[in-house]
Amino acid sequence: MRIILLGPPGAGKGTQAKTLALELRLPHISTGDILRKSASLGTALGLEAKDFMNKGVLVPDELVTRMLMERIDQPDAKSGFILDGYPRTLAQAQALDEKLKERKLNIDFAVYLETSESVVIQRLGGRLVCSKCGANFHLNNMPPKKEMICDSCGGGLYQRSDDKEETISKRLQVYHSESAPLVKYYQAQNILYRLNADGEPSIVLHQIIRMAKDHHDSLKV
Ligand code: AMP
Repeated sequence: MRIILLGPPGAGKGTQAKTLALELRLPHISTGDILRKSASLGTALGLEAKDFMNKGVLVPDELVTRMLMERIDQPDAKSGFILDGYPRTLAQAQALDEKLKERKLNIDFAVYLETSESVVIQRLGGRLVCSKCGANFHLNNMPPKKEMICDSCGGGLYQRSDDKEETISKRLQVYHSESAPLVKYYQAQNILYRLNADGEPSIVLHQIIRMAKDHHDSLKV
């Protein structure tokens, strides 16, 4: 099954995608994670992407799409994947459809995690990420047991450089102009589900799992 998670930064796409991937036994593919890893390894792609990311603007479509398709063509993504952070522009959505079609594949459904702006700002402002395993914590909503240490692997926690106040507002602007139109794109294909993601992540997760199961069952009929 091939699932896309849509929504503004801070909607909880990463958190949902990680758990959903474990539940459905599919790889979680986050273009943001791949770009951050490339940047920290100092690869040519990472260095090129770093400047865009630090400014809170999008990395060029062509670069991200090439990187994404390399990941999608890996053997572990053969039976499906959960996409988090891609597509982010109409051009990316069209490129993805085209490239999947060449492989005789398609997207099963897209979930739009609707989130209010005040919740997004509160979530991103306090977000902490593990430098080792990528787990997310929050200064107030989900603090780690030991200060700045990951509960799962003991790695050090840090604040993403693009989670600073000025960059958050730039990322939200970019979201509204570039990524919000994707909702209509998938709606027109009749594969869009809307969920209110302001509340408890576990409730949202159950709703997505239910959708995935219903979708899976409907394919068998
Ligand atoms: P994320 O971790 O999804 O919030 O992404 C962090 C940053 O990585 C974004 O603000 C962009 O600069 C870059 N990025 C991630 N995914 C994409 C994408 N699909 N297209 C362009 N830039 C991206």
